Order: sequence, then C-alpha cells, then structure tokens
Amino acid sequence: MCGIVGYIGKREAYPILIKGLKRLEYRGYDSAGCALINGEGTLSVYKTKGKVSDLEAFCSDKDCSGCVGIAHTRWATHGEPSSVNAHPHYSSSRKLALIHNGIIENYADLRKKLERKGFSFQSDTDTEVLVQLIEYVRLSHTPALPLLSAVQLALRQVVGAYAIAVLDKDTPGEIVAARKSSPLVVGIGDGELFLGSDASPIIEYTDKVVYLNDGEIALLRPDEKLKVVNLSNVEVTPEVCTLDMELGDLEKGNFPHFMLKEIFDQPACLRACMAGRLSVDRKNIILSAVVDHKERLLAARRFIIVACGTSWHAALIGKHLIESFCRISVDVEYASEFRYSDPVISSDDVMIAISQSGETADTLAAVELGKQKGAFIYGICNVVSSSIARATHTGSYIHVGSEIGVASTKAFTGQVMVLTMLALALAHEKKTISEEEFGKLCTELGRIPAKIEEILQHNDQIGLLARIFTYARNFIYLGRGYNYPVALEGALKLKEISYIHAEGYPAAEMKHGPIALIDSEMPVVVIATKNELYEKVLSNIQEVKARGGRIIALVTEGDTTISKLVDYCIPLPETMECLTPLIASVPLQLLAYHIAICKGKNVDQPRNLAKSVTVE
Ligand code: GLU
Repeated sequence: MCGIVGYIGKREAYPILIKGLKRLEYRGYDSAGCALINGEGTLSVYKTKGKVSDLEAFCSDKDCSGCVGIAHTRWATHGEPSSVNAHPHYSSSRKLALIHNGIIENYADLRKKLERKGFSFQSDTDTEVLVQLIEYVRLSHTPALPLLSAVQLALRQVVGAYAIAVLDKDTPGEIVAARKSSPLVVGIGDGELFLGSDASPIIEYTDKVVYLNDGEIALLRPDEKLKVVNLSNVEVTPEVCTLDMELGDLEKGNFPHFMLKEIFDQPACLRACMAGRLSVDRKNIILSAVVDHKERLLAARRFIIVACGTSWHAALIGKHLIESFCRISVDVEYASEFRYSDPVISSDDVMIAISQSGETADTLAAVELGKQKGAFIYGICNVVSSSIARATHTGSYIHVGSEIGVASTKAFTGQVMVLTMLALALAHEKKTISEEEFGKLCTELGRIPAKIEEILQHNDQIGLLARIFTYARNFIYLGRGYNYPVALEGALKLKEISYIHAEGYPAAEMKHGPIALIDSEMPVVVIATKNELYEKVLSNIQEVKARGGRIIALVTEGDTTISKLVDYCIPLPETMECLTPLIASVPLQLLAYHIAICKGKNVDQPRNLAKSVTVE
C-alpha cells in the first residue's frame, strides 16, 4: 500500500511524478503529494487530501518546476486521511522531505525521544518520525553527515517496514532511497533515474531496473552509477534486470474501468498462463518448477498453502485439486493467522505462497517462517521479481499482466489455473491419475479460455440483472465442493466494490444458521452446475425457495430443472467438475461489477481498500 515515485535527471520531474502516481493510485488514494527542488535550489512540498487529480488541481497555480522530485499516494495507517498527514513530510528545518510506504512500529518511542530533543511534529503519522530522526542524526555530527550516512544510521534505530525516498535541499542533485519489507524499484535511464513502488511508473522511460533488497539504501545521482549500500555500509553491486511488462496493461483501452477490462482480458490471460506449459497438442503439462524439483515436491508429507483475501479463495480450490488428484494432504491458512500461530512445520512439508503482487506482508512473513523451519517454498505470484517470488525456492508466475483494478479478477483465475496445472502435473508424475483422465483434463483445460469468451457474451444480461438487485442490502452466495470457494469469492467481490454485505457459504451449511436470514428481501446466488453434488444443491435451492428467497442460479447450459425453480439463471458452458471454478467465477465478477456501477461506486478504487497489502 502507498505508492512511491521519484525522478532525477534532465527533464521536468512534475509530469513524470503525476503520471507515475496515477499508475500507482491502486495502492492507495487517501491523499497525494510531491516534493520538488527547482533550479534555484528551493525545496517545495505540495500535498492534499484526496486523489492524484486533487493534487493536480492543488498544484495548478504553484511553481512545480525542477528536475528532482519525489511523490506519494497514501493509504493511511497512522493518522486520518488529511492534508497534514499526507506525504511528503518536512523535517523541522524544512531542509529534508520524505515519503514512506510501510509502518514504523517503534514510532511512538522515537517520537517521544525526539520531542525531548526539541523536535516538534505536525502530523499524526508514524512517517514523520523518520524525517525528523534523519535530521537529528545528521545534525548531531560535526560537520553534518551526508544524507546517505544519516539515513543509514537513522534506519538502524527503526523497527518496522519501510520503503522511503528522501530529498535534501542542501544536496539537490541526489535522492536517497531505502527499503525493508516494502517494495522499491529503481529505473536506470540515460543520465536519469526513476523510482517506483513497482515498475509501472518507470516502464515507458526505461526497461532497465534494479529491485532493491531488504536493508539496502540507494543513492540516486543522475550522471553517476547507482550506488547501493546496506545498513552496515557495505557496498552492494546492484543487479540490473530487464522489465517484462506490457504498457498496454497499464491503460484502460476502450473499457470504462480497469476491472471490466481485466474481466474481459481473462481468456487471453489464461492462454498466456498456459503458454509453454500445456503442450500444443493439449496432452501434457510441463511446469518447470515441477521438472526441477520433482523429488522434493513428490516427497512432500503435506502441502501448506498460505495466502490472504482472494488468493486464499484460490488456495481452497488448490487444496481440493491437490488432495483429489495427488492424494497429498493440504492445509490452507490465512497468512496473517499462520505467522503468529506457532505452526507445526517440518522439513518434509511444502509451503505454497500465493500473492498477486508478491509483496503481501503477511504472506511474505509466512514464507520466511516456513523457510526457517526447513519447508520447501513454492511461490505463485503475478509480479515478476517481487519479494515473494524472490524469497521462495521455486514457483510459477501466473503471467496475467498487470492487474490495476483493486478487486482482483484475472489474478484469481490465473492463480486457479496455475494450481490446476500444478495439481495435474504432480499427479501425473506421482501416477495418482490415469493417463486417460489426465489427457481428458489437459484437453479440457485448453478449452477454458473459449468457454470464458462464451460467458462474457452474457455481459449485457448480467448488467440487467444487476439493476434488479442494486438496492439489495444483503446477499448470500452458496456453492458446494469446488464451487464453495467460488461462492466465497463471489461474495467478496460484491462486498469489495458495491459495499453490500454478502456472505459465502457451503450450500449445506446454510441450514445450520444462515437460513434464518432468508426472506423475500434476500437474494441468494447459487452455483448449481451439473456435477456429483447437483442433486444435493437442488435440495438446497428448494430450501431457500420454501422460505421466499430470491435465487440467481449459475447453471450448466441446457439445464431445465433448475431454471424452472429459480428466479434468474446464468448459463455456463459444460466443463469437467474440477475446472468449474475457472469459469463460474467470471459471471460473479460481472455481477459484482454491474451492481457497483448501478450504485455509482468507484469500482477500480473502492473505499478503504488498496492493492498490494504491504502492511500487516
Ligand atoms: N504509515 C504511513 C502513513 O500512514 C504510510 C502508510 C502505508 O504505506 O500504507 O502515512
């Protein structure tokens, strides 16, 4: 959460910073701000509550010239969203300005200490202590320390997570940046350097980047080689990587919102996810991680999948797939609970960590814990070279391109696709699946993108359905077996973007409580595709109907039994049971999208939420 951008070079920094902030706005939109050093060496900070567009309006009559600048879009953790709490924060002398992503856990102690030394604070943020501490460290040496050394010494006193960038009026030709547990990327241009929380603000200027590692501090000077040191002042050779990112993913194209674009991108994304993995004749699946680590994966006593939010729902589907096909027991854990639960992990466990951004703080901490206990760690991430991708022993990228909409859609289906391929590839190696069934599943997997294309043709119909339910106050989503996590994910999508209260339940569990909620006001979405549990789900539908609930059912094309019983039907192309989540989740994404649009909500940037949850 929180987006950081920086620029130093020959061009005007302000337009680059604003464009970069817009790219990073998915990470937070409580406030926005920038700091610039102009040609006369004046350091100016402009900041305001609200979005990047509010910052632009605020800056319209200000002097925003200068070839050095840093900027920030905030997702507040400490201190309400306000202009005072917005970043950048000045030091007391107003010579330093700093932006921060993360949480400083010992900020209260540091603040008290600094107040005793005479420093006064303007904001309620944890961040402001950083800039004051750097100033204090700097000035307590004679002569005053260079900025890099002051940052280095100050950070040794700091407990918590941070990605920071600092400007110093006295050394206008440099930016100092540092990271611990929050992401930071430096872009290397020709006589210019860029900074971003991810590569999206950088990609159109250069494809050469350095991902800073934990505990590293970078000195950005436009005409010099990037200098990177660690907290103990040992110089580190930065590894320059070439970006693999499509600029088109960062634009909405002809779609009104990123979320809708990303829902419609899913057929292409899943094809990209399978490319080079599902053989062209659709008879085999080759995942390089499985090839490289076959023995270790097959010897697993159990799998533990750690994830948060939507990724946790994908994990539940993964559990079902791996247990059914590979006959290995799988535990699914919320990373945030797992990391503090003193979990039993042994060296013959395999941990799978799922995170779209690859930066989710709790999942990353769970990975570190798993590593300490000797487990073998498999990452499933979207963002290449992200922290989790780098911290794991092996893994598979989902390759669905940048996901900008805060509510995850294509990353979810990408995660489920990778988990499906992983389960099938392992089962094939383990010989717990027959050749015939494996072949059938491979063939059917290859057909999934076309089946999603069919579902997307119902977009207008789902839009009309959304109008009927716009004013519902609650929703229940029901599913069984593979479709139970789909129900959870459908409910989460609706909550996230329409702010309607929604619950997902295993359909049979309804009679143990939630059935009490059902009346004619309660819409119930049932995933009722033809599968082994079809008859059981049919009974659950009858139970809802008997209590006057209004039912929207996702049914297999041609099903006439359920269509007679329920109020509204969305047909799904037939597929094999274990692949249903890949297609059934799509109409639920569309339903949530259209309901939120009918309610006039900002679907790409829902309130209180942000993507890439780098705080605990
Ligand atoms: N803790 C800082 C604040 O509240 C930064 C928040 C973040 O990175 O999400 O301003």
